[in-house]
Amino acid sequence: MKSLPMFLNGEWIEAGDGATREVFNPANNQLLAVVADGGERDAEAAIGHARRAFDEGPWPQMRAPERASYLFKLADLIDKNADALAELETRNNGKPLREAKYDVADAAGCFRYYAGLITKPLGQTYEVGDPAIQGMVVREPVGVCGQIIPWNYPLLMAAWKLAPGLAAGNCCILKPAEVTPLTAIELFKLIAEAGFPPGAAQLLLGPGPTVGQALAASMQVDKIAFTGGTVTGRKIMTAATGNIKKVTLELGGKSPCIVFADADFDVALEYAMFAIFAGQGEVCSAGSRLILDKKIADKFLPRLAEASAKIVVGDGLDPMTEMGPLITPAHMEKVLGYIEAGRGEGAETICGGHRVTDGALAGGNFVAPTIFVRTRPEMKIVREEIFGPVLVVQLFETEEEAVRLANDTIYGLAGGVFTSDLGKGLRVLKKLRAGVTWLNTFHPTFNEAPWGGYKQSGIGRELGTFGLDAYLETKQININLSPAKLGWFGSAA
Ligand code: NAD
Repeated sequence: MKSLPMFLNGEWIEAGDGATREVFNPANNQLLAVVADGGERDAEAAIGHARRAFDEGPWPQMRAPERASYLFKLADLIDKNADALAELETRNNGKPLREAKYDVADAAGCFRYYAGLITKPLGQTYEVGDPAIQGMVVREPVGVCGQIIPWNYPLLMAAWKLAPGLAAGNCCILKPAEVTPLTAIELFKLIAEAGFPPGAAQLLLGPGPTVGQALAASMQVDKIAFTGGTVTGRKIMTAATGNIKKVTLELGGKSPCIVFADADFDVALEYAMFAIFAGQGEVCSAGSRLILDKKIADKFLPRLAEASAKIVVGDGLDPMTEMGPLITPAHMEKVLGYIEAGRGEGAETICGGHRVTDGALAGGNFVAPTIFVRTRPEMKIVREEIFGPVLVVQLFETEEEAVRLANDTIYGLAGGVFTSDLGKGLRVLKKLRAGVTWLNTFHPTFNEAPWGGYKQSGIGRELGTFGLDAYLETKQININLSPAKLGWFGSAA
């Protein structure tokens, strides 16, 4: 099988040392593709190209409306190729095709959003006491940006990084996760077709600990934007200290879904399932802790278990499939290990708790939707991010207890509340130490709204105007309208 190359400085190239990596379909663990597997030298080459493209090339100098036209063109190309991109995403990541279709549409929307935003007014003017001075603030691109993304939303995370980065005039190097490079490669074919100048956007393939680390540590890279696990985020932050890079981190979560007794029962029930089982639970904002009003537990939990057990698990390409496989056999084993740990600590499953190996699923990484009850706050399954279809239930009696349980985590990415009392809902949301919150819904994500976490869920925000801000420097310009001699040094008089 011929290997798929990287895209550096406007050219498709193999890894410098010829190394390749096999890419698999998680639904059956069969070989999907072979791709270039770059090393440190490739990372250095990409950084060198980006540095030159930023310091001498046309992209950062181009007027915003012209840069926007490239992004609009790219968005149109994504739409034109949407079906093929969604199918490839499902083959490589495993998620059901209907979810992959949402991701592709959102990715195109993200490029359009930032294409529009960059042509809107930016900056400020200010008045100071000295009438001779006119002040203004202009925004400028940060420079060379390394962008490292995970495997759970391969195309969408590429868009969240590239769209604001490129709109702002930066030269971007995208580093996809090792196991899911395929839609990024297709995206870069479209970037090539849209005609972006060489070095404005590059695709660097290879292992995180080598090429990712090289981006984070390089003195020539001005900003690093990372989405992934908290442990990796910590390493990236440390590596970035050499040249005091700008750092934005979107990390993990253990987000609460709080259901009060006065919530619409059926709505809350379906969202509690959607919160955790959408995307196989491999979602940073997954509602992986159901914080449930004790008053309705006896009715809610059996219904939740019954409905969750009926979720159709299968190959994402099968139109009947509602939940796909986990990304790799190793990740599946990690998730099954958490399930064992939960049982070992005395929690009980009321649904799932095992691998699914029926018929054709035997070769894939399928885990049944799993729900744990009789949990205690100190249990590993309650404290750690499992990143799989495993829900832990915690019961509360008062509003204060619900808030306390919800905030009892090192993470702070997201949280949802279900209640028919809007005042109570808003009260609780305002007390959540989390960056993304929802009332009577869970998961909707908008290009217009800032995305990111409190506490160990990250630093900075993506999306919305905040997302563009993270890719812009801020410069004050002070203009003397009436230059006159200062008379400060007598010798200059
Ligand atoms: P990961 O941290 O292992 O890998 C993410 C990326 O970092 C990959 O591209 C990987 O190659 C790279 N990487 C690994 N080690 C590196 C190093 N030392 N230096 C530089 N780069 C390195 O995470 P993952 O397993 O791919 O993704 C799952 C994690 O991502 C979960 O913890 C999840 O919560 C998190 N996530 C967060 C968000 C968010 O928006 N907050 C979104 C998606 C995923």
